[in-house]
Amino acid sequence: MTDATFDLVVVGSGAAGLSAALRAADLGARVGVLTAGPLLAGSSPRAQGGVAAAIGADDTPAIHAEDTLLVGAGLNDAGAVDVLTRDGTRSVRRLRAAGVPFADDLGLEAGHARRRILHAGGGATGQVLTTALLSRAQEHRCITLLDHSPVTALTLSDRRVLGVEVSSSNGLTPHVNARAVILATGGYAALWSRTTNAPETRGSGLALAYTAGATLADLEFVQFHPTALSLENAPALLLSEALRGEGARLIDDDGREVVNPLLPRDVLARSLYRELSQGRKVFLSLGHLDPDHVYAHFSALAAKVRDTAGLDLARDRLPVAPAAHYCMGGIRTDTWGRTDVPGLYAAGETACSGVQGANRLASNSLLECLVFGARTAEAALNDPPDAAAHWQTHALPTVQPGVAQPGGTRRVIEPSRLGTSLDRDVGVQRDGPHLERLAQALPAPEPTSRADLLVASLITRAAWLRRESRGAHFRTDYPLPDPAWRGRIHWRLGQAPVFEEVCA
Ligand SMILES: Cc1cc2nc3c(=O)[nH]c(=O)nc-3n(C[C@H](O)[C@H](O)[C@H](O)COP(=O)(O)OP(=O)(O)OC[C@H]3O[C@@H](n4cnc5c(N)ncnc54)[C@H](O)[C@@H]3O)c2cc1C
Repeated sequence: MTDATFDLVVVGSGAAGLSAALRAADLGARVGVLTAGPLLAGSSPRAQGGVAAAIGADDTPAIHAEDTLLVGAGLNDAGAVDVLTRDGTRSVRRLRAAGVPFADDLGLEAGHARRRILHAGGGATGQVLTTALLSRAQEHRCITLLDHSPVTALTLSDRRVLGVEVSSSNGLTPHVNARAVILATGGYAALWSRTTNAPETRGSGLALAYTAGATLADLEFVQFHPTALSLENAPALLLSEALRGEGARLIDDDGREVVNPLLPRDVLARSLYRELSQGRKVFLSLGHLDPDHVYAHFSALAAKVRDTAGLDLARDRLPVAPAAHYCMGGIRTDTWGRTDVPGLYAAGETACSGVQGANRLASNSLLECLVFGARTAEAALNDPPDAAAHWQTHALPTVQPGVAQPGGTRRVIEPSRLGTSLDRDVGVQRDGPHLERLAQALPAPEPTSRADLLVASLITRAAWLRRESRGAHFRTDYPLPDPAWRGRIHWRLGQAPVFEEVCA
């Protein structure tokens, strides 16, 4: 690859990146999409359950917004939720009209007051959706797709982003220049060793943005999916929420139901964690349902369970345990994907517009990619060159000197032990002493640190600072929400963390 120039550079070819690229190209811009590995990678093709949208006769965007706010535990940006639920309905109708083969029936998932999950491909919604977006992008004459092109730095001039640097196999570092750059690099849940995510999602976009001076926020809010397959030497394959929506039970060794399978994700993950930490096993079981119904509804997932574990989805009991799954935190943006660095935008799971609050409502994330990917492209093309987002911030509710400040470390963790350390110390349940110990073992969050250690260091410090439990962040030493902590912790290079209040 050699140097190149586009109107817009999009980093990442998941649902957010492709939605952004397609919108920009439809507006006539020349778009370069750079992605680290193959074009179909990251979380988007892995999504199973579907896309939430208020399209049922008994549903409205307002009811969808109410459900989103309830699960988000007081930390959602209400304006962003309004955009998501209103534009979401239009957005999925457009996709259906463009030929994305969603099934006619709507699924039900935990936390949703109505059936509103559009699904496709027998539990392979992400694959079907991303393939459809990708083939439209491949046909578009204004889009250039560059795979195996990992972005290693943002190019800055006078604090404005002007393009990206790419690592190439011939040892050169080509520069790709553009009027604006959209980071759509996915989340950071693959930093944990027990994860449902693909290895690409280790927060590289967060490290790029932070190093360029952009603000990160809500990093402590990581959703642990309650029901990932738990077998020695097999990946933590996600057993979708939709299975529980269709009637799957969670049972113990004796076949007794141990917990209500339709509890919200965070509550269920903690219940299962407690069962497992007492040495008991928990199984997901569909054995009481008609196997033909199970195979018909979840054909792709049944094949994956068979290939990954040699088990029968409809007949076998599947051992489950929570696994890191989805990141509410990320690069702080407004509802148009603007960061606080001119020329730099973010969309999808890597962004933190506040739309998902402290806990994401199931199946709202693909919707976020579709809606905010497109909006971000519009802003990136139409904004004046110095446009940037701003937030009012003040001191943290509780000042804790020491670990929150950039500084030296007492002992440095081996990068190969990062995943298991996060599993142990920044998992489903956290407490002060474990968080503090890990924060001190991780390097100070500085641009010279490895990207994964830098991001892990910020996540751990954020989880340690937030002395309350809210949404997906649960502290055994502070088990209740505290109104003083209703807001986001902001992280900016070279500065102490500050606090942005979220209005009631
Ligand atoms: C197993 C699983 C099931 C899920 N099920 C659902 C579901 O049913 N419904 C739902 O709404 N959500 C679901 N989610 C969440 C949802 O899939 C993700 O939130 C969403 O797909 C994120 O899309 P994205 O475009 O932001 O990022 P991704 O799809 O993760 O794409 C990120 C892209 O960035 C690229 N990249 C990363 N770093 C760099 C770099 N430095 N340079 C260049 N490229 C880079 C990656 O290669 C990849 O192409 C699921 C997630 C998982 C893991």
